[in-house]
Amino acid sequence: MACIECGKKTVPTAIHVTMWTDKGLVVVENVPAFVCHECEEQFYDDQTGSKILELANRGFPKDKMVREITVPVYSIDEVETNTTDEVPKERQGT
Ligand SMILES: [Zn+2]
Repeated sequence: MACIECGKKTVPTAIHVTMWTDKGLVVVENVPAFVCHECEEQFYDDQTGSKILELANRGFPKDKMVREITVPVYSIDEVETNTTDEVPKERQGT
């Protein structure tokens, strides 16, 4: 499948989809997706998209939940740093 962003070849991979809902953060794991190694775009087919939408429409029902995890939460206001240098945007995440 070609990348929807840049048209390059993609690799089928299982990814985690994270979503903020009115109940908090929700994770859907083992989502079959296509990942572009060129631009790092991730996307999935219509059937997979429909399944995620189905979960969302049903308010992420507890009977479909496989497990719960605890997620560490940070506030940027609590972080002190001596550095005043701006982080170059293009270097982030590399
Ligand atoms: Zn791409």
